Amino acid sequence: MNRKDVQLILKELNIVPKKQLGQNFLIDKNTRDIIINQAQVSTNDIILEIGPGLGALTEKLVEIAKKVYIIEIDSRLSTFLKNKFSNYNNITIINGDILKIDIPDHNKVVSNLPYTITGPILEKVFFKENPPQGILTIEKAIADRIFSQDNYKTSSRITISVNTFMRPKEKHKISRNSFYPTPNIDLTLINLTPREKIDKFLVDEYKRTFYLNLIRGIMPFKNKNLANALELYIKKKLNLDLNKKEIVNILEQNNIKNNKVYSHIISDFVNISKIFYEKIGLKGKCD
Ligand code: SAM
Repeated sequence: MNRKDVQLILKELNIVPKKQLGQNFLIDKNTRDIIINQAQVSTNDIILEIGPGLGALTEKLVEIAKKVYIIEIDSRLSTFLKNKFSNYNNITIINGDILKIDIPDHNKVVSNLPYTITGPILEKVFFKENPPQGILTIEKAIADRIFSQDNYKTSSRITISVNTFMRPKEKHKISRNSFYPTPNIDLTLINLTPREKIDKFLVDEYKRTFYLNLIRGIMPFKNKNLANALELYIKKKLNLDLNKKEIVNILEQNNIKNNKVYSHIISDFVNISKIFYEKIGLKGKCD
């Protein structure tokens, strides 16, 4: 599908692309081929495509994969896709919100993500035990942060949270002109593979949420010493009565250095979560 095809179909469907749904449709065949090549789709793959739009990637995925699940929030697009792929029996088209539905089992996600909800999608789909592989077009600024493990200036909450569960493997620049309408952000294709093993603490959904909240709470203070950042987070979010001196002592007892937040590695953050989770003791005392 080129620009004209896409414009024509949208006109026929009476669809004006919605910015808040990140509705930018792929119009460049070379870009599509780059994404599909990166995905290395095999006949064993069970693919999840989030936000298939007019099916530019789906067309290729259904030709190769064992099974393709596509989840599209826009009912007009999913009706169009049901007709378009009516001859295929390896595709299931779900009209729904990726953030609200139960996602069917899959081993690979191939998607030009709705850019407006990249963070929540990453959290729901990838931040867990045995996540799928992800071949995703996302905003370049977010991709840069995901790949900036060794650079404190650009590292952030998303650097830590993604790298806890996934190994960022490759990234490729994608021209924004490959989409209609042209998005007002730069884009990058990323390939994320699951880590072989995650800490046991993170397997439990409740503890994992505790960990992700802690990262969310302290990374805005990445240039502060860990104890300072923890003190601010604890005061604001945890029902714990601890002053800075006590936090410093706890870190010391657990052999965690009280240096800048950004200089810590992922296992430090997991250990800190374990310590404070135990201190909280009861479920329900944190948000
Ligand atoms: N994959 C298509 C392509 O490359 O041409 C469209 C990609 S477009 C960037 C994002 C798509 O995600 C749109 O079709 C939009 O309707 C859909 N979408 C937005 N929010 C969604 C959500 N919460 N759940 C499922 N689909 C969503």
